[in-house]
Amino acid sequence: QKRLAAEQAHAPAITTDGHRVEVAANLGNVGDATAAVANGAEGVGLLRTELVFMSHQEIPDIETQIADYEQVFDALAGKPLVVRVLDIGGDKALPYLPMAAEENPFLGLRGIRLLLEQPELLRNQLIALIRAAKGRDLRIMFPMIGCISQWRAARAMVDEVLTDYPHEALQVGMMLEVPSAAVLAHQFAKEVDFFSMGTNDLTQYVLAIDRGHPVLSKQADGLHPSVLTLINQAVQAAHAHGKWVGVCGELAADAKAVPILVGLGVDELSMSGGAIALVKAQIRSLDFGQAQALAKQALACQSAEEVRQLVGEWS
Ligand code: PEP
Ligand code: MG
Repeated sequence: QKRLAAEQAHAPAITTDGHRVEVAANLGNVGDATAAVANGAEGVGLLRTELVFMSHQEIPDIETQIADYEQVFDALAGKPLVVRVLDIGGDKALPYLPMAAEENPFLGLRGIRLLLEQPELLRNQLIALIRAAKGRDLRIMFPMIGCISQWRAARAMVDEVLTDYPHEALQVGMMLEVPSAAVLAHQFAKEVDFFSMGTNDLTQYVLAIDRGHPVLSKQADGLHPSVLTLINQAVQAAHAHGKWVGVCGELAADAKAVPILVGLGVDELSMSGGAIALVKAQIRSLDFGQAQALAKQALACQSAEEVRQLVGEWS
């Protein structure tokens, strides 16, 4: 079965009744783009640039960043590249970027909150990304957006950079991983080009369970109906405005989650390269109409366990 999936890794993932879902790769290392494409990735759905920065001994200047990003664009040969700008803070620190200790780092100066405090960091990264793209399919997204003013400030900086370095087809979107933004997805949907559901953090914040907790993290299950409800709302809101939605958290490669996410209407699943062939094969075995019915049932469940049991009996 695994070999069969691998043989078809480069074919699109289309359900038996003709519904296509994009399957893309998560990258933390620019050198891995070639392998991702070889694994059947239809693009990169999440380039975690804080991990790219970690491969340097100091803050990479614009030229150094351009060289990094160009490697990915070259490997992708026209396939879309979704780049998340620096998501520092929480559990991720850059050794060369001094940060004050915090009592609750996951609730602290993290992601866009830090970037808006250090706008030069963000501006330089935006310049490097847009210059490296040279008009190729670049989609930039911001981590940890929780309120509309953060989105607007970040978006304004992109527009400012675009006046110096034009890019006609640039898409600008955001991670949906902070509950306040997910709840108000219908407001954000009017202004963004796309959403990417960061289900790792969204689950952590919705369930109030530290995603790395040695005892509790097993309970931080993205199939909890509360999380699925937010994903459902986000997809509905985005589609109402003609925007697309991806899922780039671990949930995207979870065999029990795939039929539900597809059934909810998620347009793209992004995951580690090794999972792509199997997820594509799984999508090909699905009937979209049935997956929609399953998703609806899942939304009515009362616990993640109940959802997992439901999918287990269904497949
Ligand atoms: C997420 O939060 O789901 C996500 C994809 O981002 P990260 O795991 O890097 O926080
Ligand atoms: Mg996250």
